[in-house]
Order: sequence, then C-alpha cells, then structure tokens
Amino acid sequence: MRMTNLFLQTLREFPSDAEVMSHKLLVRAGYIRKLTNGVYNYLPLMWRVLKKIENIVREEMDNAGAQEMLMPFVQPAELWQESGRWDVYGKELMRLKDRHNREMCLGPTHEEVITSVAREGIHSYKQLPVNLYQIQSKFRDEIRPRFGLLRGREFIMKDAYSFDADEKGLDKSYEIMAEAYKRIFERCGLETKMVQSDSGAIGGSVSHEFMVLVNEKAENNAGENDVFYCTKCGYSANSNHAVSILKEAVTDGGFNKAEILDTPNTHSIEELSAFLKVSSSVICKCLIYVVDGKYVGALIRGDKTVEETKLMNAFQGNDVRIASSGEIEEIMANSGFNAVAGFIGPEGLKNIEFVADETVKELKNFVVGINQNDKHLVGANWGREVQLPQKIADIRLVEENDKCTECGSDLKVTKGIEVGNIFKLGTKYSKAMNAVFTDKDGQEKPFIMGCYGIGISRTAAAAVERHHDEYGIIWPLSIAPYTVTVVPVSDQDETQLKVAEEIYKKLLDNKIEVLIDDRAERAGVKLKDADLIGIPYRITVGKTIKDNLVEFKNRATGEVINVTPEEAVNKILELFN
Ligand code: ATP
Ligand code: MG
Repeated sequence: MRMTNLFLQTLREFPSDAEVMSHKLLVRAGYIRKLTNGVYNYLPLMWRVLKKIENIVREEMDNAGAQEMLMPFVQPAELWQESGRWDVYGKELMRLKDRHNREMCLGPTHEEVITSVAREGIHSYKQLPVNLYQIQSKFRDEIRPRFGLLRGREFIMKDAYSFDADEKGLDKSYEIMAEAYKRIFERCGLETKMVQSDSGAIGGSVSHEFMVLVNEKAENNAGENDVFYCTKCGYSANSNHAVSILKEAVTDGGFNKAEILDTPNTHSIEELSAFLKVSSSVICKCLIYVVDGKYVGALIRGDKTVEETKLMNAFQGNDVRIASSGEIEEIMANSGFNAVAGFIGPEGLKNIEFVADETVKELKNFVVGINQNDKHLVGANWGREVQLPQKIADIRLVEENDKCTECGSDLKVTKGIEVGNIFKLGTKYSKAMNAVFTDKDGQEKPFIMGCYGIGISRTAAAAVERHHDEYGIIWPLSIAPYTVTVVPVSDQDETQLKVAEEIYKKLLDNKIEVLIDDRAERAGVKLKDADLIGIPYRITVGKTIKDNLVEFKNRATGEVINVTPEEAVNKILELFN
C-alpha cells in the first residue's frame, strides 16, 4: 500500500477526551474515530488489526472443533422474556420497537438466540456435543463507556456456546475452550492470566476470565479489574470472587457490660474507634445497599470492606449499589428512626433483610449502631442485645497480603483488563427456554451449556496498552496492520526513490504486507509517523544507499542495522519461514 493512497490521518496531539494510552494512541495514530459516545469508526489500519485478531480466533476455534455461524444483531423481546432476562437486564439492553410496535433489542450477547437455535435443531444426544460461535458487533448501552475500544457501547465480540448431554461433557468442552483461549492470546502477542471469577447468582457454576495484567502504577489505569494472585501456588481470582484466610485480629471489645454511649460526630469507623479507643475490628459495621431495587443491609467487621458483587450474589441479585443518604432517610422514617450513615444498626429496621459477613460471627462485647444519631451500643453480644442475621455469607473484599486459602502464602493484587471469559452455564437457559434433547435412555433432558466470549476490539486495545512507548504503538507482528514500511528519506533523490520502489515491489511480490511512504513529506514526519502507527519493521533508504546500504529497524527493540537492500528484503521474508 502506498502511503499516498492510504486513508490515514495522524494527529500531532493526543485527543483531549482520552484517559488511557490505547485510546490516545489509536486516535492519534489514525486507527479509530469516534462517531458518538462509545461508538467508533474502525478506519482501514484498525480494520486490518481487527481482522488479524479475528482470524487467529477463527483458526483456533475451528481447530478446537467449534463451528462458525452468524446470528442476527436484532433480537425479539419474546426470547428474552422466555429466559427471564427482559426484566432484569436493565438499561444496558438497548430496547426498540419495530413499525408494528413489537419490542426488540440490539444484541448485547446471544444466549437466548443460540438456545432457540439448539432447541430447533438438536433433538438427540447423538447430535451432541456441539460448539457454535460467531464474530459480530454487540451493543450494550454501558453506563460508563470510556477508554476508547476498551469499554465501548458498540464493540466486536467472538461468542461461542457449547451444548453437551451431561456435566462431564461440559467439563471437557470448557477445558478445550480454556486451551484454545491460551493459544489465541499467546498468538496475539498477549500474556494473559486465567483467573477465577464471579459467575453470578447461579449456584455451583464455574467461570474464568482471561486477564491482560497491566501495572497499576506507571501511567496505566486501563485495567478495570483487581486481580488477586498467590505468589506461590498460582491461585488467582478477580476481586469479585477472591477469597483469603482472615488475618488474626482483636474480636473481643472488652466491655464488661452492654450500654449505650454517646459517640458524638463519629460518622466513620476511624472516628468511632478513635473516640472509644477500641480496635476497628470490634466494631460491627452496618451498611445499606440497594439490590435489584430492594433495600438490604450488610454487616461486616469494621476493619473490612464489603465486596459488592459478593453481596449482590448473597441476595441472588443482578444489580447492586450503596443506598443514598436520601434513601437512608426514607428507611429510617419507615421504622420510626432518623439516624444517618455511621449510626445505623441491624435492630428495628422494618422490611430490610440483612446479610452478615463471616467476620462478624466471632465478635464479642462489640460496638454497633442503634439507629440513633451520636450514639452506639457497646458491649453487645449476638443473641443478647442483637440478633445475628440468618443469612451469613462471605461478602468481604480480599486485601493485599492476606493469606492464600490454598497454600497460606501472601496474596498480591494487580490491575487487569478482561479480554475474554469462559463460563459454565449449566441449564440456566435450556431449562428456562425448554431447550431439550432425548438422551440415551429415552429421557428428555435440558442441554448442559457453556458460553465463551472474547472481546476482539478490546483485545486490540489491550495489545496497545501492553505494547507502546513514548513514540507510539508497537504492534506484535501477528496482529500488525502491515509488517514493514519502506521509507525513502528524500522524495527528491532519484536513487533513494528507485531503491525504495524496488524493495517495495519485491516484498509485494512475496505477498508481504508492506507500506511505502511515498509522500512528499519531510523525513522527520515520515519517520515519526512510522513509529507512531507501530509497524514492526522499517526499511529506511537514505544517503548510505551510495554504499548500497539501507537502515533496517526493529520497532520493538529499537535496534537499527545497516544492510544491503537484498538483505533487508531477506530479513523480512525470513520472518515467515
Ligand atoms: P466487563 O466485566 O468488562 O463488563 P462482561 O463480563 O460484561 O465484561 P461478557 O459479557 O462476558 O463481558 O463479554 C465477553 C467479552 O466481551 C469480555 O471478556 C470483553 O473482552 C468483551 N467486552 C464486554 N463488554 C465490552 C465493552 N463494553 N467494550 C468492549 N469489549 C467488551
Ligand atoms: Mg459488562
């Protein structure tokens, strides 16, 4: 491709609305342009990268025995009503009506559609197992689209769905996908960690995420997930799922009688523990959340933090947030109190179900709110002044240096970008949608399903997060839009132009994806652009051509060597041998 023909506009500056490097670089280097919030044009260079990732995914999925198909982007509401998700999916689901006033949605994912496909097409165990996948644009009206392609509203996903006759079959399908995913990301030049993750409120199911680990420090805040991992045994999990051995702490408040004390202005645990001169670990913290629109309460030891996804799962919910001060006011009024956050307690709140974290069970003679401002109960005990809620669950956020439950070593935390995930769905959709087959014994059974996603566009952005420097993008060879760019330094020097054209032609003849910068630009502009757009190799034809030498530059290592034009061509050809 000639740069004079290439549809490419690089920018001098980073876009002002971009927070993370992949977003900044992909816009500045002319790969993407925003159409509207969270929706991007993939310009020609970007499209080449995306197609490369897609093809790697396609090859590995095909090798793993999956079959590609394509499902419709627009889906009828009826299917979502059958699965029960129409009412719970929330605002991320982009709903619309057709001219006949029928409700539809833009596909955010395709479990419902694929289940209907299987329901119509698979009748006997003899047709199992099957794994079907597609690569397609998804639409999710994300609450916070940001970071360019990392969290868009429209984005490209590969989604696969497996159907098995039994759990053992699902285990195998899952294992095959896990292996395929490892190969896919490795081939994309991305190191990933497969971590355990939350799989929602459906009990017993298993899921893993593939995380590209990005350093929290540096300038990189693109990783939206906290990943806890053991330095010794390899245990790793998303913070929404991670567990740890609880560190020893004081759990007896030492008060020898239960009494209500004045605790003026102690709105936070720190203020309260300083005022009472007790450890925060003998305070029972009480928080109000809203799960699926319903108020719920959470009790946890004062020195610990609630993990909201775990809390949500304790109530089998789909959506969670902390209650606002206005909502707390309303709850208090309903029960005849007027306490504000910091003084809330579990006793006497009407119509609020509580969950207690495991950490509060052991508390003795502890401190707890009683729904009266500027007062706390001290020396409280379960079953005496306060009742331990029936619902007890692990709703605690793991902390760095907590001990690993598998081997007792220290857990560390790092930021990760989730590029893919695999999920044992079981019969969640097949049961709800009555998608059944006849088993060996003649019995009708629901399919045992798994689902497996990869964010194609997010993977491209994650690659930029991991591979760039101050000059621009450094694409891994396997997903680079072009392998090499040939740059004649002067557009006036006939020898330089002639040799550059010869190299270009030879590479083209050998089916190498090559650019030639034939623009009438200053050398500085051409070289800067080459670094910015991140082509893995650059062959620069300059003054040394009088000695029959050109510069061969490796973008990733920065190494530059002088070689003859023939050697330069051969070095590129060798990459593919
Ligand atoms: P996240 O927790 O990041 O919102 P998710 O759990 O909603 O992800 P899935 O529904 O499992 O993601 O989708 C499969 C894959 O699609 C994810 O692993 C991710 O790589 C990609 N993906 C999900 N949401 C987006 C988005 N808004 N923009 C780009 N890629 C996305
Ligand atoms: Mg999501």
